[in-house]
Amino acid sequence: HAKESGRGEVRAFRPEMGERFNRRLRLESRLHRAADKKEFFVYYQPQVDLVTKRIIGAEALLRWEDQEFGMISPVEFIPVLEDIGLISNVGKWVLEEVCTQNKLWQERNLTPIPISVNLSPLQIVLQTLEEDVYSVLQKTGLESKYLELEITETALMKSPEACALILQQLVAMGVRISIDDFGTGYSSLSYLKKLPITKLKVDRSFVMEIPDNISDMSITTAIIGLGQSLNLDVIAEGVETLEQINFLRERGCREVQGFYFSQPLPVHQFEELLRAQSVMHVEGNQRFALL
Ligand code: C2E
Ligand code: MG
Ligand code: MG
Ligand code: MG
Repeated sequence: HAKESGRGEVRAFRPEMGERFNRRLRLESRLHRAADKKEFFVYYQPQVDLVTKRIIGAEALLRWEDQEFGMISPVEFIPVLEDIGLISNVGKWVLEEVCTQNKLWQERNLTPIPISVNLSPLQIVLQTLEEDVYSVLQKTGLESKYLELEITETALMKSPEACALILQQLVAMGVRISIDDFGTGYSSLSYLKKLPITKLKVDRSFVMEIPDNISDMSITTAIIGLGQSLNLDVIAEGVETLEQINFLRERGCREVQGFYFSQPLPVHQFEELLRAQSVMHVEGNQRFALL
């Protein structure tokens, strides 16, 4: 076999291409099954306020463990779900799962916190988002201010006009919106000003190399400043070291999320962490004590 590549040259078929294709096909069929059987689950990663030293939110992260493949990263399976037309259903399931869980935690008298859910750009384009969010909030009884939606900067800037309309409807409902992976796309600052956004999430790639990479430190500082001048909250993702925390804190970034405090946790473990916080300042986690 020979395959036409995008640039018109002819590429020889190599065995690993067949393997990749094969894996992809098997993944697709396993994902159809997973969606039918509801084999997905959600992990929760705490978000911490550096001033009060408390958990002030969490990000919901989709997980999938397949019998054949084992644990597979959402970085690999989300694009497949998008390609095979399942992201909308699975996305709706995530929304409902997270809102149900959050409501349950509130009923158990744990500190009420907003939980953020990642949206695929396809969910925004499909135009049932407003309806889906509305009916999930109705069904679960969760107050809208405890739901936050994350949209990547790239998705937002691809069709800012269309996004603006949908976001306005969501914000009118009381839902919060944050821009995910901020700094990796190309935001038009005039759109940023107009969109009803609550929060910027500084992408992990900039935080990762603090304090070794001077440009990343400048970019991070600039994003924090941008947030402050536009009156937006700023949270840094992928925080792994105390050095990074001190850098961020000195520059006025109040919220962080990352392995330094906690990896994304299975539902019961996250609940334990929240419960610990409800009686004390998360003393159970030594990381918080170091702050
Ligand atoms: P994201 O939304 O930017 O999520 C943050 C990712 O960074 C998560 O990876 C998280 O585990 C990881 N992370 C957090 N702190 C650290 C850290 O300190 N160090 C390192 N090395 N990594 C850290 P995860 O869970 O593998 O998710 C990857 C991406 O998959 C997410 O990036 C998001 O784009 C997508 N995704 C996850 N769940 C969903 C979902 O329910 N719907 C959609 N549409 N996308 C999702
Ligand atoms: Mg996210
Ligand atoms: Mg992110
Ligand atoms: Mg990211």
